[in-house]
Amino acid sequence: MKVFKFGGASVKNADAFHNLANIVQAHGGTRQLLLVVSAMGKTTNALEQIFEQATAQQDYTVILQQNWEYHLEIVQALFPDTTHLVYTQLEHLSVSLQEYLRAFPVSDNYDKHYDQVISYGELFSSTILHHFLQQQGLENTWVDSRKYIQTDSTWREAKVDWAWTERVIKRDLLPLLQKQLIVTQGFLGGTNNGLTTTLGREGSDFSAAIFAYCLDATALYIWKDVDGLLNADPKHFANTVRYPEISYQETIEMAYYGASVIHPKTIQPLATKLIPLYVKSFLNPAGEGTRICDCQFNLIAPAYIVKENQCLVSFSVKDFTFISEKNLGTIFNALSELRLKINLMQNSAISFSICTDYHESRLHKLIQTLQDQFIIHYNTNLKLYTIKNYNPESIKEVVAQQKVLLEQRTRTTLQIVCQYA
Ligand code: ASP
Ligand code: MG
Repeated sequence: MKVFKFGGASVKNADAFHNLANIVQAHGGTRQLLLVVSAMGKTTNALEQIFEQATAQQDYTVILQQNWEYHLEIVQALFPDTTHLVYTQLEHLSVSLQEYLRAFPVSDNYDKHYDQVISYGELFSSTILHHFLQQQGLENTWVDSRKYIQTDSTWREAKVDWAWTERVIKRDLLPLLQKQLIVTQGFLGGTNNGLTTTLGREGSDFSAAIFAYCLDATALYIWKDVDGLLNADPKHFANTVRYPEISYQETIEMAYYGASVIHPKTIQPLATKLIPLYVKSFLNPAGEGTRICDCQFNLIAPAYIVKENQCLVSFSVKDFTFISEKNLGTIFNALSELRLKINLMQNSAISFSICTDYHESRLHKLIQTLQDQFIIHYNTNLKLYTIKNYNPESIKEVVAQQKVLLEQRTRTTLQIVCQYA
């Protein structure tokens, strides 16, 4: 039993769909394989924009139409017969999305409506993939992941009810997989009263890990446009190296520090059941890729991780007394209420600093909440560099070139907050 996850780039155009089908044919066969697919290309970003405009009561129809045409063009290339059922199903989805956008109360719970709207990307892509594989002779069932991954209603970052989810996936999907493939959506979950939730941006990797865990899969494959797990993002660094094999632990830490290659929540369920994760290139499926498993290496290439759009906030006590545990409690509570995550923190006698992702409205709420008790300063437009397993050369390479505002190091990890050059 295997699970394959295909991200947005692996279904971004008609050729990509053909390539995907070839991979499934060559590697997976026709049963005991569940496919998890993300929204096509940059669809999730487009839906976010559409949703924001709808909430601001601005005209969203132009982007909506563009996104629809983007899908339609691919579908027309894949299904020359325009009476094919896929057209009716997509039309149906598109109408229900439009109806939702027209009808939802904009003053109501923003995050809840966000999930209902954003989820259409995966509903479109999985519907197309289902029919396309079917047409290529790869018999499969389309499964609505919202009925299998049950979550609470923490909108945009839903928490999984593992016991329920595992029971129902084992009960219903295992028998089905004995006979054929399953195609389902990444990123989506559902509440027990039938509403859609999402698992956090880029959450399809996590979905795939949930299915792999619940099916006791022998392996999870994540197909990407890079050769495997690299020690740095090629967009930021020249001379990247691929890890042929790396431990769950190292990978979790890299994801935590912001390596965008795998969603941070993906590894934990796999590590629990010792399911190996293969990161492979859909452009070079025969390539070795990376195997992430229960292994241990003493010497591994330093990993360079950059988190963009960071903000450094410092709090000091108004009467120049020391920052106490009680003060810290107040600050942590406010951060957790506003779902602002600390990427790095530092404490001195009279001030406490945190580096967090920059969310304008949440930052302003934070200041409002705490300004009576603290003097608060902040810097925006920063980046956070992390070098895991650093060595003198790697420090020279990165740190020397930056305007550093804050630095922190442990035996294995060096982090700096710096300004854009
Ligand atoms: N489509 C979703 C996103 O872009 C989930 C994913 O791709 O993993 O965030
Ligand atoms: Mg993606």
